Amino acid sequence: MKILVINCGSSSIKYELFNMEEHTVLTSGVLERIGESNSKLKHKWRTVGSRLDEKIYEQKIKDHQQAFDLIHRAMRESKVMKDLSELAAVGHRVVHGGEAFKQPALIDDTVLEGVRKVTPLAPLHNPANLTGIEIAMKIMPNIPHVAVFDTAFHQTIPEYAFRYALPEDLYQSHGVRRYGFHGTSHYYVAKQAAHHLNESLHSLNLITLHLGNGASAAAIRQGECMDTSMGLTPLEGLIMGTRSGDIDPAIPFYLAKQTHLSFADIDNLLNKQSGLKGICGYNDMREIHLQAQNGNSSAQLAIEMYCYRIKKYLGAYCAVLGRVDAIVFTAGIGENADFIREKVCDGLDGLGICLDTEKNQWLGSDCTDISTAGSPVKILVVPTDEEWEIAQQTLSLVVSG
Ligand code: AMP
Repeated sequence: MKILVINCGSSSIKYELFNMEEHTVLTSGVLERIGESNSKLKHKWRTVGSRLDEKIYEQKIKDHQQAFDLIHRAMRESKVMKDLSELAAVGHRVVHGGEAFKQPALIDDTVLEGVRKVTPLAPLHNPANLTGIEIAMKIMPNIPHVAVFDTAFHQTIPEYAFRYALPEDLYQSHGVRRYGFHGTSHYYVAKQAAHHLNESLHSLNLITLHLGNGASAAAIRQGECMDTSMGLTPLEGLIMGTRSGDIDPAIPFYLAKQTHLSFADIDNLLNKQSGLKGICGYNDMREIHLQAQNGNSSAQLAIEMYCYRIKKYLGAYCAVLGRVDAIVFTAGIGENADFIREKVCDGLDGLGICLDTEKNQWLGSDCTDISTAGSPVKILVVPTDEEWEIAQQTLSLVVSG
């Protein structure tokens, strides 16, 4: 059974085609710079003997329709499928599902309307997700399309944790509350952690740390999310590549008064010029590490601040959960940066979090336990795979009808 997963952004489209029985990727690709003169599609596919082939298409792609046409062509040329009717379903990543979508949804007009309704909450992402869905449904009209929401997993967060201390009307009339993001990743790594620990997810309390370019933490009690660090938007919480994470909410007003920056400027400042980039000028953790090792004090401070913020969330979520069975590190930084994991866990023995520094440096490619043998709280590194999770959720919805 084949399932295609599509992640359609405003200027890029990522896709992966899975063979569900074998858990293999048959084709994957990234098309970048839609709307620019130097658009580029990197298309990969598995050939006989499981070799991975790659072809780069470089041409001007003026819009998403042309982008989908090119991806369709690349799929035909690489002969991964005889035709699109071989697909069992298509899973679409949708960033914001608001309160309406607590589960994946089989896409019909009502679902499209529901996604449209919450667009003001994700003005950069949902319109692109919708465009992708609409074009894909036109190209593949007889195949079920499923929307899988980044926010869905966090819909179990109780009201006392998702509400802001603001007038109630802002919540009732404008939906101002914590939604959280990266839900598909948090859920996937939580399940993988449970599998690794040979326990049911419903018997475990976990803190999952998705540390990529965007970063968020989640407190998960017996399989249900209790709290997460991102809020109404993905700006809140941990320090990220270019996003500030938590700041005093009065800072934008202070800046507006002192510098006469416009709201748009401040929005750009907090989302694109802050975080690690704001502190030291770099947003790539590999570069920051190199700089720090070479004595760059801003880079050293960036790492210090980054880990301190994660530590604060770990402490808070230990209190939220009462008992923690495992902490899970995932995504680009979480999976690869041993120095970050070491710094985050340093001095947390009192909370039962004891890192084995040797295991921390030598990881396998799968889920790895990097805590000491006697550590009351397990520390795991789990590679995330949001596309596979979307494919699985799509499959179960289609199979269950
Ligand atoms: P993601 O958004 O999950 O792709 O993660 C991107 C982040 O992971 C970037 O900050 C990268 O610098 C970081 N990253 C990837 N590989 C490594 C590595 N080996 N060491 C440190 N950071 C890494």
